Amino acid sequence: MDYFPLFIKLQHKPCLVVGGGQVARRKVLSLLESGACLTVEAPVLCDELQALVDSHRLSWFAEPFQEQEPLDSYFLVVAATDDASVNRDIAERCNYLGVHCNVASEADEGDTLLPAIIERSPLTIAVHSSAQSPTVTRYLKRQLEAFVPPQMGALARWAEGWREPVKQRLGDLLSRRRLWDKLLSGVASAQVMAGHEASADAIMEQHLEEAAAGRLSGEVFLVGAGPGDPELLTLKALRLIQQADIVLYDRLVSEAIMELLPADCERLYVGKRQSEHSVPQTEINQLLVDYARQGRNVLRLKGGDPFIFGRGGEEIELLASAGISFQVVPGITAANGCACYAGIPLTHRDYAQSVRFITGHLQSDKVNLDWPELARPNQTLVFYMGLSGLGEICAALIANRRAPETPAALIEKGTTPQQRVLVADLESLPQLAQTEAMSAPTLLIIGEVVQLQKQLAWY
Ligand code: SAH
Repeated sequence: MDYFPLFIKLQHKPCLVVGGGQVARRKVLSLLESGACLTVEAPVLCDELQALVDSHRLSWFAEPFQEQEPLDSYFLVVAATDDASVNRDIAERCNYLGVHCNVASEADEGDTLLPAIIERSPLTIAVHSSAQSPTVTRYLKRQLEAFVPPQMGALARWAEGWREPVKQRLGDLLSRRRLWDKLLSGVASAQVMAGHEASADAIMEQHLEEAAAGRLSGEVFLVGAGPGDPELLTLKALRLIQQADIVLYDRLVSEAIMELLPADCERLYVGKRQSEHSVPQTEINQLLVDYARQGRNVLRLKGGDPFIFGRGGEEIELLASAGISFQVVPGITAANGCACYAGIPLTHRDYAQSVRFITGHLQSDKVNLDWPELARPNQTLVFYMGLSGLGEICAALIANRRAPETPAALIEKGTTPQQRVLVADLESLPQLAQTEAMSAPTLLIIGEVVQLQKQLAWY
């Protein structure tokens, strides 16, 4: 490690920035956040620095840097002139006097780096690449900013408020650690971040009681994994996926998403295998309760959105009655994902003023739906699980006076690298689907909007 990261209190400490241009301005703005007592040294200042001097946030020494300057009254000196040799002289002088120095142009010449900062006060994340790659540092900073929600600071403050009470009520260090792990990954933390601290306090009380009695239960995260492309996960989904101790998943969850699970997370497949039946729903519901009671974070990962043809409601009903805490995270449903990646807007001012999500699942070889209603114009129909009933669906719409030439599309494995899109019309699509040997999972979209696909396909 070339540079050891330290966090230093700069409040009221005298610091000097040499230079009056844009680089100096950036350094000054960052240091002002720390409460340092700042002087800027330069014959001329840019407008922004001048404004800071005028508003007394900064002192100004209107001279160029002198070789023998007595810099030893400063805690930190930042060399930010546009002359590399001057910056080097400043670094050498600081080195001689034992004063910390940061060189803005050639960071490795000073002994101090000013990192990229992500502030979630009281939490601070600092990133630097040992002066080697500012571009990668900036990129990583943006990634972290997106991943660490602004409310993380509120969570830190809430946790601090509970630290002593928890210590007093739970003597054993290991139990305390387990309790905090549960709270910070679970519903309590979601409640704090949503501004509902009273609810979080109530959860804390309940968990404290359970922990003291040695029966701290885990939580269940019912998470929508989206239609396949891992980039379509929500930030919340990703955060909870990474906190799972055990995952129950089915066929629709893509490999790429499974790779995001922690290495030590136990994986339990509960979907259908070829020629086998899936684990019955009631058994899945019970497994969620049982694993949570063992104190584990249970991730129930579902394709698309858990509340759209996902039986998510049934799974959390039992959790609710068993008193297990749970969170539900919406996902991008197949209709949204497949339509976007196929280039089919689901509504359009000229063609469709509404869209319907329909199950095309066959019940005793029939699709029982309100066909006259579905055959009405100016609406887009999206059929989930519609591949085996495709012939029947198209025939029923035509029989109920939807035009046989109404455009219709089938999207197979939408949003994944294996995506296939078949565009035809109500009359010809069933035959074409057979010829092309389309296989599940496949989404069926019917309506005038489908004709836009030719122009708008991009994936
Ligand atoms: N909860 C899921 C839907 C589950 S029902 C969601 O919100 O998306 C399963 C059906 O969803 C499949 O039969 C298929 O019609 C559709 N589906 C799911 N993922 C799909 C994908 N990647 N491509 C095409 N269809 C998909």
